[in-house]
Amino acid sequence: MVARTIPVETFDLVIFGGTGDLARRKILPSLFRRMREGQMPTDARIIACARGKMSRKAFQQMIREALEEFIPNDTDRPEDLVGTFLKALDFVTLDVMGTQGWDDLAGKLRDDAIRAFYLSVGPGLFGAIASKLSETGLATPESRIVVEKPLGHDYTSACELNRQLSASFDEHQIYRIDHYLGKETVQNLMALRFANALFEPLWNAQHIDHVQITVAESIGVEGRGGYYDKSGAMRDMVQNHIMQLLCLTAMEPPARFEPDAVRDEKLKVIRALDPVTSEETVRGQYRANGEGGYLDHVENPDSRTESYVALKVQISNWRWAGTPFYVRTGKKLRSRMSEIAVIFKEVPHSIFPEVSQRKGNALIIRLQPDEGITLRMTIKDPGPGGMRLREVPLDMSFADALADAGAVPDAYERLVMDVIRGNQTLFMRGDEVEAAWAWTDAILATWDDSGDRPHPYDPGGSGPEDALALLHRDGRRWREVET
Ligand code: NAD
Repeated sequence: MVARTIPVETFDLVIFGGTGDLARRKILPSLFRRMREGQMPTDARIIACARGKMSRKAFQQMIREALEEFIPNDTDRPEDLVGTFLKALDFVTLDVMGTQGWDDLAGKLRDDAIRAFYLSVGPGLFGAIASKLSETGLATPESRIVVEKPLGHDYTSACELNRQLSASFDEHQIYRIDHYLGKETVQNLMALRFANALFEPLWNAQHIDHVQITVAESIGVEGRGGYYDKSGAMRDMVQNHIMQLLCLTAMEPPARFEPDAVRDEKLKVIRALDPVTSEETVRGQYRANGEGGYLDHVENPDSRTESYVALKVQISNWRWAGTPFYVRTGKKLRSRMSEIAVIFKEVPHSIFPEVSQRKGNALIIRLQPDEGITLRMTIKDPGPGGMRLREVPLDMSFADALADAGAVPDAYERLVMDVIRGNQTLFMRGDEVEAAWAWTDAILATWDDSGDRPHPYDPGGSGPEDALALLHRDGRRWREVET
């Protein structure tokens, strides 16, 4: 039998910001699971760096508690493995803007292990850390550096960030995380398209009526109001996560499943996006309804930042001309769900006149809450009562179908292991990020010029009325926001 899990080579992973929320909630629990599955070698080292003074022992205790909180089931956390994992942890007190602590860190790194630096700190510190790693000689030509959103606030700041990183690291060393790319379903979108002969011949404007991409959240901006109000749904979700989903859905088959081959094809999609006119966008802000609304949550009664956005996106190339991609994302919607829905055209001629097919086939790629793929088919209603048709889902839930493989791994598990393996396929290249910002900036500029305010919408619904009209005008409708 072929082993499912291939261990990676031993590594030293330095996490700047190792006591922060991202490290405790995602990075370290993901590494623990990889150790549990036999993929992370037991002699690997994880060295957290943060400003506050803390002993190694106190840090280990902090991570023990984080594992208990974020891997709540005791049986998923065998005590002997927790002990082994905690032994791999070390801590260095280090203010990245200062000079102290760097020698201490250098003393903990091995020359013969893969070396990776995860910058789990605010983006304002990325440039300083990158140049310090280079000045101190801690970064070797094969070291990796990992950064995560927000990768800039607009095109200009994204270019500046890329400049700062590339002053000390080559592009092949830079891993820009978009955790959506680490989701099993998103990778399965590529498998579905390029490992099956069934879909690709139909994957074009001739057979696909339109595509809907939805990232709906049920929570508001509570607690993150200050940050969010400077960002908004367009910068926080569309420019990165939704753009990546759109690229993987729309891209041409790459010649090989290799980092630059895949990223070249994604970049071509971004470059083929038409500018979006103001009539093709709808912005919303959730209103107060019993509890505070968006303006209360960000404590800014004049805010024009959108907590919801819907766009009609057109891709000007041979494959997609005439087939729009409708994308939407928002906070305080009816439920938390993310999906890509590929809606096929109806049959050219229905032979069942009285019960004609009402809808085309649809392929639904569900990212959350439970990852899976559904194909909507039309079949005959059973029974002797004539030729009645109905729609049924052909359902594949990954949790069920892959039960023997255990739980669907968290996106960070895959991504952190890819950093160690040196595989950049699921990471964004600098030019992709810049191209995505250039397209996004133009939309943000049309909003600024118009001076319009976002449309209020009710919490717990499916967004502003105008977003419905965006599709109605084209004779289409959004899928329900429901789980
Ligand atoms: P956080 O505020 O919880 O943690 C920040 C960490 O950085 C702390 O460990 C702190 O000690 C350390 N730090 C701050 N200034 C420092 C300095 N000068 N020198 C050394 N250490 C310093 O933040 P977070 O939520 O963990 O987020 C970290 C980064 O990841 C941010 O850029 C954030 O935007 C991004 N991010 C976070 C999440 C998430 O789920 N939390 C998701 C995506 C992206």
